[in-house]
Amino acid sequence: MAQVPISGPWITEKEIAYVTDAVTNAWYGNHSLYHDRFERAFADYTGVKHAISLPSCTSGLHLALAALGIGPGDEVIVPDVTWIATAAPIQYVGAIPVFADIDRDTWCISATSLDAVITPRTKAVIVVDLYGNMPDMAALRAVAKARGIAVIEDAAEAHGSEQGGERSGSFGDVGVFSFHGSKTLTTGEGGMLVTDRTDLYERAMFLRDHGRAPGDRYFFNREVAFKYKMSSMQAALGLAQLERIDELVDKKRQIFAWYREELPDFVMNSEAPGTKNTYWMVSMITPGTPKQRWMELLPQNGIDCRPFFHPLSSIPAYEGTEQAAVARTRNTVSYELAPFGINLPSALNLDRATVQRVCDVVRAEARR
Ligand SMILES: *Cc1c(COP(=O)(O)O)cnc(C)c1O
Repeated sequence: MAQVPISGPWITEKEIAYVTDAVTNAWYGNHSLYHDRFERAFADYTGVKHAISLPSCTSGLHLALAALGIGPGDEVIVPDVTWIATAAPIQYVGAIPVFADIDRDTWCISATSLDAVITPRTKAVIVVDLYGNMPDMAALRAVAKARGIAVIEDAAEAHGSEQGGERSGSFGDVGVFSFHGSKTLTTGEGGMLVTDRTDLYERAMFLRDHGRAPGDRYFFNREVAFKYKMSSMQAALGLAQLERIDELVDKKRQIFAWYREELPDFVMNSEAPGTKNTYWMVSMITPGTPKQRWMELLPQNGIDCRPFFHPLSSIPAYEGTEQAAVARTRNTVSYELAPFGINLPSALNLDRATVQRVCDVVRAEARR
């Protein structure tokens, strides 16, 4: 029997038709047709002015930091508990990552934990919509505004999430998304940068094409920069997926509802009033059962799983850094939750019977 997958996409005839059309026709005069359609539709869906399609979310974070003019000596705050892709681009621009604690309920950075780590060198915070949830954005924005720092929203895991009727990605100066094969909406590999700020949009457009102003027919590169684009085939796949976004989000929410019903006594992803969580990864925190136990047990039963993100300040990549050392003692919630967190199968092809089978294994272990 095949392993129950941890994550994976939902591809239909529509996606196949769009990609086939792109590989057949999106050349010569039509080379940017699918990019234009995907970017326009994505900006409209998110509720922002501008969208730039990219090869990944990591490149989007790099571009966002570069477009904001962040560089050597600057500090950028990230939640301690997130994928390393949130933090790595801070070092690409020569700046220093500062790890803030997460909130016990949302598992995201909070206004209080942000405020506590701002220094005169802080230039920005990268807020992460962890596992499809969202932090209290109004409170975070108020702190950022009062302290004069920029907000980047890492919505890589939160396609379609909402707060106060506004969509994820639209809350900061810049928002970024991932379309990696494991994410709710996929282009295989890919990403999107979104913003309402025309200055940041123009700067990002310039930096992502080797420092060439859009439309410059002489190819006079004015700065040494980057090359961050996706292909027409990826844009076509993304457009087809975006046209099905409600279906994709509803399925994610359905999968979570099945787990919630099966495991009513477990601590799982939360959803505050006014927030719509899209549950990229169904996760549970099991005080008393370390994540290592689940990492052994579930695969033995043909079930794939993933560790809840380890605090960045605890992993070898940041060992020996001053910021990691400070964070390890300061970030008590991160260190209390993360060792006992596990991501359960959340792939878009799951059915109710499979979720039930996973929950049977979880319950049996909890009863031991
Ligand atoms: C997946 C992910 C990224 C990186 O996305 P890529 O497209 O793989 O670069 C960034 N941040 C978070 C929170 C993610 O989950």
